[in-house]
Amino acid sequence: MKKNKSVSEKVKRLSFPEDEKKHSWLGLLLEGYYIVDKGISRAIDSEQKKGRKPACFKGCSHCCSTHKDIPIYPLEMAGVSWYAAEKLKGPGRETLKNQLAIFRKNDTCPFLVEGACAVHPMRPMACRQFNVFGSPCGEGEDPYYSRREDVMEPVKKHVDQAFFVMLPFYGVDRGPERIKIIETGDFHRLVKELHACNWKELAERMERLDRKKPDTC
Ligand code: SF4
Ligand code: SF4
Repeated sequence: MKKNKSVSEKVKRLSFPEDEKKHSWLGLLLEGYYIVDKGISRAIDSEQKKGRKPACFKGCSHCCSTHKDIPIYPLEMAGVSWYAAEKLKGPGRETLKNQLAIFRKNDTCPFLVEGACAVHPMRPMACRQFNVFGSPCGEGEDPYYSRREDVMEPVKKHVDQAFFVMLPFYGVDRGPERIKIIETGDFHRLVKELHACNWKELAERMERLDRKKPDTC
């Protein structure tokens, strides 16, 4: 009988060959996300072997409304912005553009469109890592406080490896320098809060692109 693939065996590096040629930073980000996704899926596999059941499923998005302190790094912001502006098509694009234009700090994440993440392939590492076991979160529930034991531990080793790959974006190319920055955790000074960012500029960028392309569907 054919054995079902484990979660980690299904993880693939996202690939946008033409865009990666145009934007040198994109390959770094995709490589970093691949490392983190691998780490997450291995952690989920390992928990499943212990009999724990992942609660997250496609269409479940209460966490995106509940959390208002999502960390995002500048390279991740570049990825989210690029994806929204240049890749996102269909009716969700207009909705996202409107949400970004009127977004205020305490609102639900502006990238949540009709119950799904509009920039899912490029969502930040913090979102990628937030996984829950047992039962799905209730509306408004933050399981980090209500049942910490059900929240997956961050995959620090993989996040560090991902940062090692991504640091050239920040002008840090040399291996020893990269190792030092990771060991000291200095790169965390770069972090921003998704809800504190000015996403209006992204809405304007999307609008400028849309005016050039009469049909975005
Ligand atoms: S973290 Fe909670 S709300 Fe988010 S997808 Fe998982 S179960 Fe659903
Ligand atoms: S970026 Fe996407 S996954 Fe992260 S909180 Fe926003 S909608 Fe949810």
